[in-house]
Amino acid sequence: MDCVELFKQMIRLDTTNPPGNEVLMTDLIAEIFEKEGIWHRVQKTGEGRANLIARIGVDSDLPPILLISHTDVVGCENQSWTHPPFAAVEKEGIIYGRGTVDTKHLTAMQLCAMIALKDEQLDRAVYLLATSDEEQGSALGMPKLVEEYGCLLERGLVINEGGGFCITHNEKPYWLCTVGEKGRIELRVIIEGASGPASFKCENKAVDTFSALLEHLASYPFPLIETDVHRRFCDVLGDDITHPFLKHFYTYNSHDAIILQRYDIGTQVNVLPYRIEFELSLQLLPGRSEAEARAMVDALFADMPVTYEVLRFDPGFASDCNNTFYRTMEELARRQYGAQAIIPVYALGRTDGRFLGNLSCDVYGFSPVTKAIPFETILTLVHQVDEHIDRDSIEQGTRFLTDLVGIIGKS
Ligand SMILES: [Zn+2]
Repeated sequence: MDCVELFKQMIRLDTTNPPGNEVLMTDLIAEIFEKEGIWHRVQKTGEGRANLIARIGVDSDLPPILLISHTDVVGCENQSWTHPPFAAVEKEGIIYGRGTVDTKHLTAMQLCAMIALKDEQLDRAVYLLATSDEEQGSALGMPKLVEEYGCLLERGLVINEGGGFCITHNEKPYWLCTVGEKGRIELRVIIEGASGPASFKCENKAVDTFSALLEHLASYPFPLIETDVHRRFCDVLGDDITHPFLKHFYTYNSHDAIILQRYDIGTQVNVLPYRIEFELSLQLLPGRSEAEARAMVDALFADMPVTYEVLRFDPGFASDCNNTFYRTMEELARRQYGAQAIIPVYALGRTDGRFLGNLSCDVYGFSPVTKAIPFETILTLVHQVDEHIDRDSIEQGTRFLTDLVGIIGKS
């Protein structure tokens, strides 16, 4: 199987979500697995929408390995691309197209690893899960597969999107790996107070409370929490961190945080509003229960003249960054990419991994990309114009995943 050619074929399938049309991808993958004699099932979840699960290896009591990726991509509206986004044009070893780093590269590499390993004597099951609808909340994607096949996936060792990118620290290359996702509690907050002409002085103005509250939230002193990820991060990098992104990750890995999502202070002209409503969420370190999150919210608003209600709570999850799987990834990254070490971080956004994190899986965001496209560049490519990847990343990444699954699956 020529992985780069397969990858280009995938990029040429327009699975922009909405509407998705991910059947284009599942048809292609199913056809390949059919030819290779690999067990697979397509799960239809809507008009043009489908997920796919495939398996090699054997049933056993050992944790399965799960190779996951999503097959939908975001749109390209209002972006003027140098090369058409669904043509997979290659120029000097760089392949351009929507989905090249989010995440058809991962689908292609995982599929090729499955084929390379299909006749090996593995000691456990290895699943490939290709899901729809991730870019629009996943309702038709991963949760549906988990509903039907969840009992096969428990305690899985998962390779997911979200990391696998090079970042330089003290002139040495490191690779980022996500090892969990933060949780969140979402709130609606209401401030009621006096209104009146904007220029009049009066007590108890809603806007005054609002601005005091913003200040309070912006400077709220969340303490540093020594999570396993924080500890490992510091073990690897020491305390002399200068890179701005690594400094952010240092804080992100060890602190809860507040995100203001939406506010509405009314539209009255020359009159101040008497009622201000806004939504905010607390981004929570993994391990926080709903009761704990509610207690944090109570503490946050103590003595503030506001009312609030909890709209939603989603727990986070953390993955083991000291187990054999993680160490093997690190060893391979050293050997293959010349990595100094792997840097563990919590994912910056939410991915399909969260549906597996809640099945006691260890989920690792590691879709390996070479030094040619470092983390700083990746940030400018995901969901943006001229998304691209180098050909070497596809070839090397396939080798990396094949070796990783091979080593773990024979241990
Ligand atoms: Zn993605």
